[in-house]
Amino acid sequence: MRRIHCPKCHTTLITSGGISIHEHAPQKESDEAFCQRTELQYLRDWQASAMQCESQWDPQYIAGILGCKLGEDTRRVIMREVPKLVARNRELEQGLMAIQALMKLA
Ligand SMILES: [Zn+2]
Repeated sequence: MRRIHCPKCHTTLITSGGISIHEHAPQKESDEAFCQRTELQYLRDWQASAMQCESQWDPQYIAGILGCKLGEDTRRVIMREVPKLVARNRELEQGLMAIQALMKLA
């Protein structure tokens, strides 16, 4: 007998002799029904969490100010353009420091 992780409902399966049953399935419910019910709850919780995260930002807005064209995937544009912006900002900071160093010499 060993315990494994159910990939569907993310609870513990007890497996023995090629047969697996969910550790916490109540006796009044079939093992498969328990797995489906628990998986559905897991997915609903995941969806609520994902929607909560998504509500905290507006990828359309960010992609728009980064020059996203109509029909382009907003996340791809953000992934492509933000590293360029960060690199450009670093170059400008280095340029500014060089100018400030030259002004101190004058
Ligand atoms: Zn399961």
